[in-house]
Amino acid sequence: MAKSQGGARARGHNSKLVAAGRRPEWTGDPRLGGGIVNPPLWRASTILYDNVADLDARGQDTHDKLYYGRRGTPTVWALADALTGMEDGAAGTLLFPSGVAAIAAALLALLSPGDHLLMVDSAYEPTRSFCDNFLRRMGIETSYYDPMIGADIAMLIQPNTKVIFTEAPGSLTFEVQDIPAIVAVAKGHGIVTILDNSWASPLLFPALVKGIDISMMSLSKYIGGHSDAMMGSLTINAALWPKLRQNTYLLGQAVSADDAALMLRGLRTLDVRLERQGRGALAIAKWLAARDDVGMVRHPALSECPGHEFFMRDFTGASGLFAFTLKNGGKAKRAGFIDALTLFGIGFSWGGFESLAVPADPPRSAVPWTGGDALVRLSIGLEDVEDLIADLSGAFAAMEG
Ligand SMILES: *Cc1c(COP(=O)(O)O)cnc(C)c1O
Repeated sequence: MAKSQGGARARGHNSKLVAAGRRPEWTGDPRLGGGIVNPPLWRASTILYDNVADLDARGQDTHDKLYYGRRGTPTVWALADALTGMEDGAAGTLLFPSGVAAIAAALLALLSPGDHLLMVDSAYEPTRSFCDNFLRRMGIETSYYDPMIGADIAMLIQPNTKVIFTEAPGSLTFEVQDIPAIVAVAKGHGIVTILDNSWASPLLFPALVKGIDISMMSLSKYIGGHSDAMMGSLTINAALWPKLRQNTYLLGQAVSADDAALMLRGLRTLDVRLERQGRGALAIAKWLAARDDVGMVRHPALSECPGHEFFMRDFTGASGLFAFTLKNGGKAKRAGFIDALTLFGIGFSWGGFESLAVPADPPRSAVPWTGGDALVRLSIGLEDVEDLIADLSGAFAAMEG
């Protein structure tokens, strides 16, 4: 079997990412005398038992044991295990067919009719939609709060408030929330905190270490990293783990071994991609900020971004997604600008190896968006930065021409 990798020194991110989820019992068969680097694709619906007594016995604790396909196979467990290992303080990770499914499952597990939810106003639009449609129909009330509210969130708490949902930075407008201040208030009231950590991942923001109870990610973004698979995750502390696991089983959520293998492959190179894409994005954001035809640049590492001080205090780096506005622009001008780009694709999602540009119109209810209607969001990929800048430069010229 593979030699054990002992040693007292705490490992860095990259050493962890290389070996994450690689348990000998998932990657090898003792009868074959070796371990494959990656867990094989274990596809299953039916699991066969030796006899009825065996079947009965296995029904007792079915987690991380072959039981029925919906409960997963070693390929899926390896991904969950790897994600848990990235968050110090996590008891486990649940996987979902999309990020939105993960958000919906977390909220459904924690909220009942009559409960109240505090949702950040800069949340991902489908997160808002879930609250405004599904939760409302169930008699669960959502209040939206200013992303910059900090400790003043205490004033919005009601006796029936059960969950505070955060997203830092907001994925369209990039306000960075003061997560430690919000967590401190929530803990004082026994309220659960959830963070949509898709932008930073635990490599740039260790959510559970910062006191968050449930760290959610759209794995479709940076973890997959190659724009070819969808998945979502919830990484959960020990107190909430049994409840969330049970509710996820009740909802029948499951992911395929094939998709889990793609996510695990992406995870191995997460740090190098984030580092490289983050560096490119910051260079481009600075180049944009220096232009006269650009209004605001919303990049957490730039001082003009709301919550920049919290970014500097709490995050270890920036990923490759940010936004800016065209000065004196409107929707038509913005469309002309985006259409003139040749290296940037026009499309949803982000975090892949290819650069993308989309028009963004932030939905708001607590604090109005005052940035005008020419907000453009860029996801910077792995192309040469000089080429991306030349492409943007050409689009500015075409817009004026
Ligand atoms: C894309 C996204 C999601 C949803 O993830 P899917 O995998 O597309 O369902 C959630 N939160 C944020 C911030 C996102 O950008």
